[in-house]
Amino acid sequence: MGKIAINIVTGSLQQEETIVGIDLGTTNSLIAIVRNDTHQPIALKETDGLALVPSIVHFDEYGNTTVGNPAKELLIAQPERTIYSVKRLMGKSYKDVSGDTGFFAYNVIDDGTDALVKVQVGDKFYSPIELSSYILKELKKRAEHILKTGITKAVITVPAYFNDAQRQATRDAGRLAGLDVLRIINEPTAASLAYGIGTKSNEEKTIAVYDLGGGTFDISILTISNGIFEVLATNGDTYLGGDDMDNLIVRFWQEDTGEGNTDLGIGSSPDKTLMQQLRLTAEEAKKHLTNNDVFDGAINGIPVRITRRQFDDLVQPLVNRTIDACRNALKDAGLKPEQISEVVMVGGSTRVPLVKDSVRNFFGRPLHDELNPDEVVALGAAVQADILAGNNTEMLLLDVTPLSLGIETMGGLMDVLMPRNSKIPSKVGRQYTTHKDGQSCMRISVYQGERDLVQDNRKLAEFNLTGIPGMPAGLPKVEVTFMIDADGILKVSATELRSGVAQSIDVKPQYGLTDEEVEKMLLDSLTHAKDDIKIRALVEAHTEAQQMLDTTEKFLNKYRAMLTEDELATTAERMTILREAMDAKDKDRIQHETEILNDISRPYAERVMDAALKDAMKGKKVI
Ligand code: ADP
Ligand code: MG
Repeated sequence: MGKIAINIVTGSLQQEETIVGIDLGTTNSLIAIVRNDTHQPIALKETDGLALVPSIVHFDEYGNTTVGNPAKELLIAQPERTIYSVKRLMGKSYKDVSGDTGFFAYNVIDDGTDALVKVQVGDKFYSPIELSSYILKELKKRAEHILKTGITKAVITVPAYFNDAQRQATRDAGRLAGLDVLRIINEPTAASLAYGIGTKSNEEKTIAVYDLGGGTFDISILTISNGIFEVLATNGDTYLGGDDMDNLIVRFWQEDTGEGNTDLGIGSSPDKTLMQQLRLTAEEAKKHLTNNDVFDGAINGIPVRITRRQFDDLVQPLVNRTIDACRNALKDAGLKPEQISEVVMVGGSTRVPLVKDSVRNFFGRPLHDELNPDEVVALGAAVQADILAGNNTEMLLLDVTPLSLGIETMGGLMDVLMPRNSKIPSKVGRQYTTHKDGQSCMRISVYQGERDLVQDNRKLAEFNLTGIPGMPAGLPKVEVTFMIDADGILKVSATELRSGVAQSIDVKPQYGLTDEEVEKMLLDSLTHAKDDIKIRALVEAHTEAQQMLDTTEKFLNKYRAMLTEDELATTAERMTILREAMDAKDKDRIQHETEILNDISRPYAERVMDAALKDAMKGKKVI
């Protein structure tokens, strides 16, 4: 059920709130929606006609922010107050980025207390999450202005290689900007969706997504089958992109323009202002050369010039590095170029004709480059948002598990194999053993929830692993694995490793669980956390006591003859007292009595060992 919103311009009621798709990029960010009438995704453009918002935040001396193009213009004048490439810092500790701080013209600091980096502007400190939230707020404001309605829900994209901390940081930035982030999805997945790849059921494809942006290069190899995307391999270079092309042009001008080049800063280190001006003009030249053979411009009255041929020669080594990365990604995926059925081009820098030609040659097939390469990720995020809004019921992509998944162990305890918020798809395994001699069957009960006792959680499935060959308790090794695919389907399997006996079951995704139910289960786990710890401790004490009783019983049956009448009586008495403590459900008493029984029976066991040893020595001649 969507919320009802009022369009403040027309006054009409809108049944479903629009969920937006957001590409939060290193260089540029943008927001897109699927149009109600045409069902086509479009990037939202302000009256300036531009969809791209440079991912740049400027702070004035009072801490007021400006985001986007106006901030980009201030890069030259106020480099230490103008924050770019914040995506590189998301979810990172100072240690993670300490080698890269030279890249940033602003102050990246380690505040010592916080594990995550901060950025210092004047006397204020900002986390990358806060900085990203300013960009998201700007996008939200734009969308609300254009659509004339409130926006509160979004799908945000991240690179396929982003780890949990980076994904979580992106989610938090969204929340800070007043957005309910319904999904974090991978950029290459979004790009494929934008081209309609994977939107038809029964489609099986292997896709390469080549993404060359402003400062980063990513190649991702994906498969899609039945609407499920899976990342087979990723490769790339986090410091390779359009900015490097700009820098090459700058150096080219500094070195090759002959007279006047000292004025462009060669030999001396140019001041920051001149450097930024050089870079901006170089970027202009690069873009111009996409459709023209020569660029002519001027910096501080000094003419600069570059031809397409010269540019191609400059960037050829960069392009070669991207092709090497493609080769490595394919190798990791165990595929050959001809096994790729679709090649998707993403990122503003793929407009460079040399890039297109090289990628086309490498994969030996036509490219998907019909859509605007710097909009394609946002467009795909909008397609995903539309699916979530319920407008496209064919597909349902899950990204993380909403609740923990585990199995029941001795005493009705929940043993979590896959904690909540685990990435989908994923796979985990754990070994268990039997607790009875000759046990031939093991029951695997699968539960979902956060409570310590399975009875408080939700049972998903149950099956028996049968045919375990007779072995003493504790000897069989039963490996239980949980595998959850991109569609949220959980496959549970159990294998006895010594004999190879195996059994498995598919658990359908719990679409039936509403957000409210998930929330209630989480809340319950919090309110009951104390009780649960107590109960878990009791159950564990109980289990241990039972094992102690079983072992003692077994021992008595076998070695009764080696104990005196007195010893037998004491043992029987302690066993009774322990059983009483267990009946009374008194954890401390159970533990105490278990220890006593353990203490009195330990010498008996040693006696048996000694006797066995003597037996073994008998008949052997000691020379
Ligand atoms: P990101 O994903 O890193 O945010 P984008 O996909 O928006 O980046 O790409 C930005 C890069 O694309 C910049 O380096 C920009 O100069 C470059 N770019 C944009 N248009 C062109 C063009 N016509 N030719 C070459 N490069 C371009
Ligand atoms: Mg991008």
